[in-house]
Amino acid sequence: MSYKLPIPAKGTHTQPFWDGTKAGQLMLPRCTDCNRVHWYPRFICPFCHSSDLEWIQASGEGTIHTYAVQHMAFGAWAKEAPYVTAYIDLKEGDRMLTVLRGVDPLRPQDIKIGAAVTVEFEPADDDTHIPFWRLVGE
Ligand SMILES: [Zn+2]
Repeated sequence: MSYKLPIPAKGTHTQPFWDGTKAGQLMLPRCTDCNRVHWYPRFICPFCHSSDLEWIQASGEGTIHTYAVQHMAFGAWAKEAPYVTAYIDLKEGDRMLTVLRGVDPLRPQDIKIGAAVTVEFEPADDDTHIPFWRLVGE
């Protein structure tokens, strides 16, 4: 394993997401009342405040909503700079913040808003696989 960055904190309300990443699946919470997918996991739907939520297996497909090149970072991320962060419009709805892989942060002109991306998972430890996104075809 080469992942050396901080591992996100986990809770009971996020366990289905982490179980999915370990199996190579992107799981997203969906409200069974208004049927909308939301990201990040919460105890209630951010759209209608229902607590009737379920998890769905997402396609792992999305498009770049926006991005930024991080030339300076702090803590464990400092040695990763420069790198590209992006908001991904998930095919199922809502957006996910990510580190975009497979792009040259010194050639941001090659990154296009609306470009198709796909999720991939990097093992961080035996129970944690971190999702990253990559341009389709890269
Ligand atoms: Zn809802």
